[in-house]
Amino acid sequence: MDKKINNWRNYIKLEFASLPENVGLARVAVASFASQVDLTLNDLEEIKVATSEAVSNAIIHGYENSPEGIVVIEAFRDETKLILTVEDRGKGIADVEQAMQPAYTTDPERMGLGFVFMKSFMDHLEVTSRLGEGTKVIMTKNLNPVDAVN
Ligand code: ATP
Ligand code: MG
Repeated sequence: MDKKINNWRNYIKLEFASLPENVGLARVAVASFASQVDLTLNDLEEIKVATSEAVSNAIIHGYENSPEGIVVIEAFRDETKLILTVEDRGKGIADVEQAMQPAYTTDPERMGLGFVFMKSFMDHLEVTSRLGEGTKVIMTKNLNPVDAVN
């Protein structure tokens, strides 16, 4: 995967405070960016859910709900593909493979399904993390232009 900006039709970077109200902001921003391609409503809905899940994780787990963290989102697109990265410099994940297991959670109040949604709604999911340094989630979605399904 080449993330060099010039290789893409469009690119955005968004940095925001780790506040719960910014989950919706990120979701709208990424949806608006993805909508520059005439994609299906289903694809759009899936991108929105994956964005919310990754950003919520950064805020809730990465920064443990502290509003002092910074979440950074980058998105790249051409007509057929969207790459979305969500990064925090929070506490990090000790065992990424375990964290991605369905129903695995470190918070008994939660379902442990965020990574499951990201994985099933996007075409590729990669998570890199270091304890004490933070986490980066990279997701790729192949876009199905509306024309192609009609
Ligand atoms: P749900 O998403 O269903 O509300 P959840 O957030 O616990 O529950 P996942 O999103 O699948 O489930 O994440 C699984 C676990 O991975 C979390 O419980 C948390 O321990 C860890 N985790 C996920 N993202 C991060 C992150 N950005 N920083 C630190 N830990 C994380
Ligand atoms: Mg989650």
